[in-house]
Amino acid sequence: MNSKTPILKPLTLPNGAVLKNRLIMAPMTTCTGFYDGSVPSDLVEYYRERAGTIGTVIVECCFIDPKGPAFPGALAIDSDNKIPGLARIASAIKSQGSKAILQIYHGGRMVEPELIGGKKPVAPSAIAAPREGATTPEALTAEEVDVMITKFGDAVNRAIKAGFDGVEIHGANTYLIQQFYSPNSNQRDDKWGGSRDNRARFPLEVLEITHKMASRFADASFIIGYRFSPEEIEVPGIRFDDTMYLLEKLAERGVDYLHFSVGYFKRASIVDTKDPTMLIDKYLAMRSETLAKVPVIGVGGVVNRSDAEEALGLGYDLIAVGKACIAYPDWADRILKNETLDLFIDSTKREELLIPEPLWRFSLVDAMIRDTSTTGRKYKAGVFQEKVEAEALKLKISVTLDTDRITDITLVQDDSVDVDFTPSFEILRSRMLVANSPYVDAVTGATTQSEALKKAVSRALTTSSKEHVIEEGGNPDAPQSYDVVVIGSGGAGLSAAIRAADAGARVVIIERMPTIGGNTIKASAGMNAAETRFQTLKGIKDSKELFYDETLKGGKFKNNVPLLKAFVERAPGAIEWLASLDITLSDITTTGGMSIDRTHRPEDRSAVGGYLISGLVKQVNQRGIDVLLDSTVEEILHENGVVTGVKIVNEYNEHHILLAKSVVVATGGFSANRKMVVHYRPELKGFVTTNHKGATGSGIALLEKIGAGTVDMDQIQIHPTVEQTTSYLISESIRGGGAILVSQEGLRFYNEMQTRDNVSAAIIALPEKSAWILFDEQVRQNNRAADEYIASGFVISAPTPEELALKLNMDASALQQTLDRYNGFVKQNKDEDFGRTTGMRFPLNSGPYYAIRVAPGVHHTMGGVTINTNAEVVSEHQQVIKGVWAAGEVAGGIHGANRIGGNAVADIIIFGTLAGQNAAAHALA
Ligand code: ADP
Repeated sequence: MNSKTPILKPLTLPNGAVLKNRLIMAPMTTCTGFYDGSVPSDLVEYYRERAGTIGTVIVECCFIDPKGPAFPGALAIDSDNKIPGLARIASAIKSQGSKAILQIYHGGRMVEPELIGGKKPVAPSAIAAPREGATTPEALTAEEVDVMITKFGDAVNRAIKAGFDGVEIHGANTYLIQQFYSPNSNQRDDKWGGSRDNRARFPLEVLEITHKMASRFADASFIIGYRFSPEEIEVPGIRFDDTMYLLEKLAERGVDYLHFSVGYFKRASIVDTKDPTMLIDKYLAMRSETLAKVPVIGVGGVVNRSDAEEALGLGYDLIAVGKACIAYPDWADRILKNETLDLFIDSTKREELLIPEPLWRFSLVDAMIRDTSTTGRKYKAGVFQEKVEAEALKLKISVTLDTDRITDITLVQDDSVDVDFTPSFEILRSRMLVANSPYVDAVTGATTQSEALKKAVSRALTTSSKEHVIEEGGNPDAPQSYDVVVIGSGGAGLSAAIRAADAGARVVIIERMPTIGGNTIKASAGMNAAETRFQTLKGIKDSKELFYDETLKGGKFKNNVPLLKAFVERAPGAIEWLASLDITLSDITTTGGMSIDRTHRPEDRSAVGGYLISGLVKQVNQRGIDVLLDSTVEEILHENGVVTGVKIVNEYNEHHILLAKSVVVATGGFSANRKMVVHYRPELKGFVTTNHKGATGSGIALLEKIGAGTVDMDQIQIHPTVEQTTSYLISESIRGGGAILVSQEGLRFYNEMQTRDNVSAAIIALPEKSAWILFDEQVRQNNRAADEYIASGFVISAPTPEELALKLNMDASALQQTLDRYNGFVKQNKDEDFGRTTGMRFPLNSGPYYAIRVAPGVHHTMGGVTINTNAEVVSEHQQVIKGVWAAGEVAGGIHGANRIGGNAVADIIIFGTLAGQNAAAHALA
């Protein structure tokens, strides 16, 4: 790639200081500070080793006040006794010929009380951070704000005394300075809050005192930088134009560089996700002449020379490099020699790379560590070419493999290269290299292409592993042995596999579809559980008894009682298990049939399925669990009453045997098998289904063959709100979040929060057999799933109810009356017409207004094979079939005659983990 600015070109900053080249080591938390934040010796060596060819090293953030540390092991610059330790770092960096800059900050409300002796953290306002378990901070008094600014000044003075060439004011990452600028965390009504200018006052005063200290104690070449997070996702929150406003002000006062705080230098807006424009492009287009004189640093995702050159080509003046500098202390030398680097760290090399212990254990680094000492040879090293074909996309890739890992994936440069796909390819390439697996998240907006690329890489791995087996004199078609075979890669299968692997088992997941995730990936509402930590934090009083009672009532008392009891009992543990895997479901909503908010969903209120599967797949990758896609289990092998493995057929129609002592069946339900649905419920003929194609109930047939019983097979749930042209399910959480249902006449006709079966029946009873689900802007903003629907193109919207009615061919005054009446009910918290009691969150009165035409569709099959409370598959007479477990929708009984929204996700995690744990114990016994 041609770039305008060569990496090695020196840069003169506005104050006259010269950086010898464009490369910077990014400030990265090492968590190595002593209990009081002072510097340990190994950290000095860590920085010394990384300085040299790189132009500048920005040392990790140091807190300026004892109440400021935002994480354990943070470094401090809160008193003069920290100067000598920091001076050793400055001198180590400078001795190698790099500039040394120190980042200074205060964590504000992001500080945990346990890090500051149990005291309350401080912040602009007494508003807790929008994250799990956040403590409500104390608002700083006006006098304390003044003192805080002087503390920043003291810190600058100390940095000067320690010999640093400059400081970087950390105005990002939602720490104190950003908290002052944010309309979300700053709701003061004195001169520090309110208007944008008032909120900008604190950052500007910090800059001011930094200048004062610099002019008093340092020479003119002392560098003053400022780091900023370009946007906040919260509403209200900092938007990009607010950021530009602040940056202009900072530039007016004088700053030597500005530093984006983002994870990827080509990132677009996180707020306006439909706008693909890179933030750097917006920045360049919007900045004034004054701001244009201030160099700007790009960061995130720079590993190789080409990345750095590309970033400079985009208009960044300087490039900060994070993880690559940890993995390669001599990173700059290597890229200048044009080495191609792969972002991983050999597990045996910690000492050689001078990575301090706490940093080694930090998740950022942990994810890069590859255990080269224990993995056996898996692949034949070499380059494997594969075709990638998806819709209009046709290209070739080369996958370079070492004996144990993927070392590169490149596009074969011929006529087939599709320039439009190149940015997505680059993202996927780096995701795959970091995960060292083809099973990574797809790129938004390029899902089909992403899946095709993943498949091609996965094919290359299969070919190479086969060649490896042949090379070793083996037969690649000979039966392979595992401890546990998991059939199905939905939530139940992935949880079972992870749990089994954690118990020490060798696990393989077999999936008939070309992608991972099953029907679970479509799950929207969330995961029900009662008496969870997250409910307590939100002050929600719930009980397992009530959860049990409501599920039983929703299931028309047909539920299998022991299974339901185990389900309710284990639900909070399952929420915690997910949280331990970084899959945090901390926001809570409700679904039909539940009287209390107990549907746990991601903090950003997005649909649960994608988040869950993406999180679980990361865990599968980390554990090196084998995944076979496009492979269908045709038979569970069973000899003398004992399970011995499975027979599979792959996409090339090749048959293989996999031997295993334990088999977990997690193949999902049969909603997509029309024949089976109509067999059990003839009246559902012609109904669309919300399910993915793989939901054919094949696992039930496999298990019946080896003696499994079945239960409740005719209990098939229809979901009331399915968009009929796309079969897209409109989540219950939208109604739970405040939407209503109206008929073509513009009238409400039923309690929207009743159970699915009842709401479906009410819609079918309407003359048009369909209804409109209707919501306003406030509901949209609080339910991210709504944006997905809008993006899918089937949402009708208008600025006013009247205009909406016109578009819907509906009587406008009837609709307006319906809204007025409903809004009155919201106000008085009583629905006099239909007795709705939950999800009446906001009056529907802020435009634009949105409507989607919906009707019921086949959604969930409550029936399935019989299991016991150990998730063991049992016969009709409760006889355990040895060696086989079933979990998730394939199993019947838990939900009775009607599944409550949010209970399927709970079911798959609870019984998936249980099945995985028991299957591993059996295999390893
Ligand atoms: P759950 O919610 O119970 O986890 P899902 O529907 O999410 O169920 O996932 C089940 C997965 O099992 C689907 O991805 C489906 O394609 C897969 N599957 C179904 N039958 C087979 C089979 N015979 N062999 C391999 N995979 C299967």
